[in-house]
Amino acid sequence: MIKENFQNILSQLPPGVELVAAAKERSVDEIKAAISAGARIIGENYVKEAKDKVAVVGRDVKWHLIGHLQKNKAKAAVGIFDMIETLDSLELAGILDQECKRINKFMPVLIEVNSAGELQKAGILPEAAEKFLKQILVFSNLKPMGLMTMGPWLDDVEGLRPYFKKTKDSFEQIKKTYGSKLDWRYLSMGMSSSWKVAVEEGTNLVRIGTAIFGERR
Ligand SMILES: *Cc1c(COP(=O)(O)O)cnc(C)c1O
Repeated sequence: MIKENFQNILSQLPPGVELVAAAKERSVDEIKAAISAGARIIGENYVKEAKDKVAVVGRDVKWHLIGHLQKNKAKAAVGIFDMIETLDSLELAGILDQECKRINKFMPVLIEVNSAGELQKAGILPEAAEKFLKQILVFSNLKPMGLMTMGPWLDDVEGLRPYFKKTKDSFEQIKKTYGSKLDWRYLSMGMSSSWKVAVEEGTNLVRIGTAIFGERR
């Protein structure tokens, strides 16, 4: 089923939209099935889980961190991931930069936007994203490449549109200012239930788990 699910979604994505297979709690065999169906980017939420899987699955695919990163895991994360989609504080940016410098790595990062301004959620408010970007430019081993958002948890995915729009607006605004200086090109929005809405609102990176692998156990 994984192969059919993956290819079915892939066939519906417009050109230029990339698919991250969100693989938390999935086995190495499930991930391998997605890769043989064409998956090129695997998303993981936890550093330890990703480390174990990368050791077996290998590095022919890209590994994205899509879950919240604790500061004490930054060092390990820098060694494992090809992109960190969840940069959500200045302090974390500084630590990541330091760890990257130690191993001479340039880390692609996305700024996580708290698009609905939810108090309990991590992330930078959409209005503050440009200022935050400006502040992290001093960290020369980070490569800011775009924005990521989860959006609020809603029963009706149509309700996500305003938050996706806000994030897209902020992405475009930043592109105007920084497009010539940075490789600013990823807007990561949309999951199993919401990717179609996110595509309509201009995402180019969707993170899909359940619709590829089935319900999580
Ligand atoms: C789990 C997860 C996804 C995928 O969610 P599904 O509903 O299973 O598609 C996407 N993004 C993040 C940050 C996740 O943690």
